[in-house]
Amino acid sequence: MKSTNKTMMQYFEWYLPSNCNLWNNLIKVAPELKKKGITSVWLPPACKSAAGINDTGYGVYDLYDLGEFNQKGTIRTKYGTKDEYIAAIQALQLEGIHVLADIVLNHRMGADEQQEIIAYKINPDNRNETIGDYRTIKAWTKYNFEGRKNKYSDFKLDWSHFTSIDYDDNEKENGIFRFYGKQFSNEVDKERGNFDYLMGCDVDFNNLDTVNDLLYWGKWFYEQTHVDGFRLDAVKHIRLSFYKTWLESLKREFNKELYTVGEYFSVNIDALLYYLDSNKEINALFDVPLHDHFKIASESSGYYDMRNIFENTLIDRRPSKAVTFVDNHDTEPGQSLESWVQPWFKPLAYAMIMFRDMGTPCIFYGDYYGIPEKQYSGMKELLDTFLLARKYLAYGEEYDYFDNESIIGWTRLGDYYHQDSGMAIVLSDGAGGGKQMNVGKNLANTILYDCTGNVKENVYVDSNGDGIFYCNGGSVSVWIKKDNMYNL
Ligand code: CA
Repeated sequence: MKSTNKTMMQYFEWYLPSNCNLWNNLIKVAPELKKKGITSVWLPPACKSAAGINDTGYGVYDLYDLGEFNQKGTIRTKYGTKDEYIAAIQALQLEGIHVLADIVLNHRMGADEQQEIIAYKINPDNRNETIGDYRTIKAWTKYNFEGRKNKYSDFKLDWSHFTSIDYDDNEKENGIFRFYGKQFSNEVDKERGNFDYLMGCDVDFNNLDTVNDLLYWGKWFYEQTHVDGFRLDAVKHIRLSFYKTWLESLKREFNKELYTVGEYFSVNIDALLYYLDSNKEINALFDVPLHDHFKIASESSGYYDMRNIFENTLIDRRPSKAVTFVDNHDTEPGQSLESWVQPWFKPLAYAMIMFRDMGTPCIFYGDYYGIPEKQYSGMKELLDTFLLARKYLAYGEEYDYFDNESIIGWTRLGDYYHQDSGMAIVLSDGAGGGKQMNVGKNLANTILYDCTGNVKENVYVDSNGDGIFYCNGGSVSVWIKKDNMYNL
């Protein structure tokens, strides 16, 4: 059966300006994204956030305000109004592109009123440990959503719906303050003893009212937007079984497969596998260990052992549940999880996610269009070439030639359904060189060229499908059939 490779795109980066008009822009670019081979788009969080039009969307204030009510000084969010959001979703879907909504449920920010709460101060390095006796703190924990006037829901939030907060206004003190009678969930990541608390007002997923509201909200959100799936924020900070319940409830209600990928930001492969197993693989996860390998390799001055680049990554251990990526809005320079892959290595990294048989690669907006705020111009031209090569040619069996610590390569033998398909990829984090590889009978007796333009000479493939393929130092070359029908 002919099937087309799936490619996700994260359509935002952290430093987009507050007048970026993202939803409207998506309506314009949807046909082009389709042509390039993008099959799903991950949109940024659409809910009204604490910093209004300046908020990237992760400081959620009101889940029921998708840019519809005058709250936090604005009707629209950073990206536009609710109507524009829904129009963008429809424009993408009209092109056959699936839309993933970014769901941020771990915390809330921008409360309307303070409350006096009895709380314990928590040791930030070991969250199971309290520091001193309980005391009365004053904290921003009451959410009234007055601008919404009870439309869609009259559910309000106060300290009883949260476990903890990061600021006591009585003592003007930062820290983690866990409310009296509240416990952190024990079904969260074990880093720092217990990683339930991330930021803001930490939502209490053991509170039934809270959970019921979130189940109700999920149905409301789907009915309003009809998205195709979700990107779940901060899942390692949320009671593990919650999202399984949440997703199952939606799938049951709407009888629809909702493709979902979770952000479990950990380089610990065992933690990722534990999460997938415990939730019966109801969602995929981003391959953070692979991103980490890319980052380390990019900073190793050519001394990374490239034979191990995939070892103990999600694409290695659980390929069917791996969404591979190079960088994202959190790993950008200056962001909370900054772990930026050095630009020289990015073409190699993108080849390693886009031309592999397994995993769903996710292209980062910042790498595609650039990040003006950080004087980074991106690599649109190369990624456009890679996207088309992936869409039309990256098919068939895969053979690895991971036999040198600097230069590694692999081939795809092509398949019957995609004319001219098959390719050879060679890359090196050190000196350049060549590698004899076999590209199979599809490409036997043909001339291949390097579509990156890095190596100018052609390679002649013999009647057995063998050829010697080259790359330059610290570079990647992707060898495809010259004069292929797609004019790549
Ligand atoms: Ca939490």
